Amino acid sequence: MKQSELFPKTRKTAPKGAESINHQLLVRAGFMDQLMAGSWTLLPLGFRVVSKINQIIREEMNAIGGQEMLMPLLHPKSIWNETERWDKASEIMYKLKDPRGKEYVLSFTHEEIVMDLIRKNINSYQDLPLAVYHFSTKFRNEPRAKSGILRGREFMMKDLYSTHATEKDLYSYYEKVKQAYSKIFKRIGFDFRITEAAGGVFTDRNTHEFQVIAENGEDTIYFCQNCEWGSNKEIFKGKEGDICPSCKSGKVKISRGIEVGNIFPLGKWYAEKMGVNFTDKDGSLKPVWFGSYGIGSTRVMGAAVEVSNEDKGIIWFDAIKPFDVHLVELTGAKKTAEIYKTLIENKIDVLWDDRELGAGEKFADSDLIGIPIRLVVSEKTGSELEWKLRSSDKLKLMAIDEVINKLKAR
Ligand code: ATP
Ligand code: MG
Repeated sequence: MKQSELFPKTRKTAPKGAESINHQLLVRAGFMDQLMAGSWTLLPLGFRVVSKINQIIREEMNAIGGQEMLMPLLHPKSIWNETERWDKASEIMYKLKDPRGKEYVLSFTHEEIVMDLIRKNINSYQDLPLAVYHFSTKFRNEPRAKSGILRGREFMMKDLYSTHATEKDLYSYYEKVKQAYSKIFKRIGFDFRITEAAGGVFTDRNTHEFQVIAENGEDTIYFCQNCEWGSNKEIFKGKEGDICPSCKSGKVKISRGIEVGNIFPLGKWYAEKMGVNFTDKDGSLKPVWFGSYGIGSTRVMGAAVEVSNEDKGIIWFDAIKPFDVHLVELTGAKKTAEIYKTLIENKIDVLWDDRELGAGEKFADSDLIGIPIRLVVSEKTGSELEWKLRSSDKLKLMAIDEVINKLKAR
């Protein structure tokens, strides 16, 4: 893509009142735009990043048998009354009335909707287990929609739901999802910990959060320096330096974290409330076991920026970069159009800075946008290209063939 055509242009300064790094950098670099508190447009660059995040999530959900679908965002009051969440989750819901007085809520999660689907479409133990998921918008009346895209009142989530014939089956799938989530966050490039957390109002079973280690994170987490044990602040009663309650040898460390995912072994509560039953082998009618599993993909983009940046801009993790390379053309460069074409033919996704601007301005934009590899062509580079990683100051001249080989090897 030609940068002269990319919408919108970068900005020199951060918007007024932007406190968090992701807010400042993602807006300045043209990845997102704020409509009002907690409400964001993903601009073309931001949409690219979130699409990459979603694709990684999709691959790992499919690998554990998740079936992708899409559920509605406008829900009738009646379905939320079945679990009494219409009243009990009221604080977080955006409720509305149509002109005839019928009441609705905008989706803040989808457990009740999935349970209704299962109720209508599942009869026997042979129909179980089942795992379905979707990517869609969630609306939540967050009292403090600060922290940029980390806390939206409208945001994108992948939510997976699984139903099972037995508790054992639920927990063995729960472990699979835990591993799939670990793979996702590893693939993205995060340093993260899994922490045990309370289930909140709607389940007495403990849940697990996926917490990205981040100085500016909202959450406080404890974890063992030696083993996998981790806990959030709400349920750990000890302190930093204690001996790990799990392995009994490592020491407990404390850190700030950004919650990017949360998994819930919900049990039978929903099925019992909503009458979601199946016929078991012995002919008896039983409620299904239920789990739900969420990742906030727009929050993941914000978290990546919070943990990978420097003064001049973003440093994208390789797996979620908006483009493979930033081709920066300076005055006097020859044959840039040809180089661009060759890169495209080799399936390399290129942002070509073809604008008539000085080198200083172009490099500043390149650093701000943060594509991991910069290729400069100028009078000086002749028929070669100057290769530079966003995360390093080293420059290297290379012929186009060498550039392509190197890119393909990555
Ligand atoms: P938080 O504690 O941060 O308010 P939550 O525990 O209420 O989040 P969950 O219901 O567990 O959120 O949602 C699953 C995932 O959705 C979270 O792990 C997070 O990645 C994302 N998420 C939740 N709330 C928001 C929000 N307001 N803006 C962006 N992403 C969010
Ligand atoms: Mg949560």
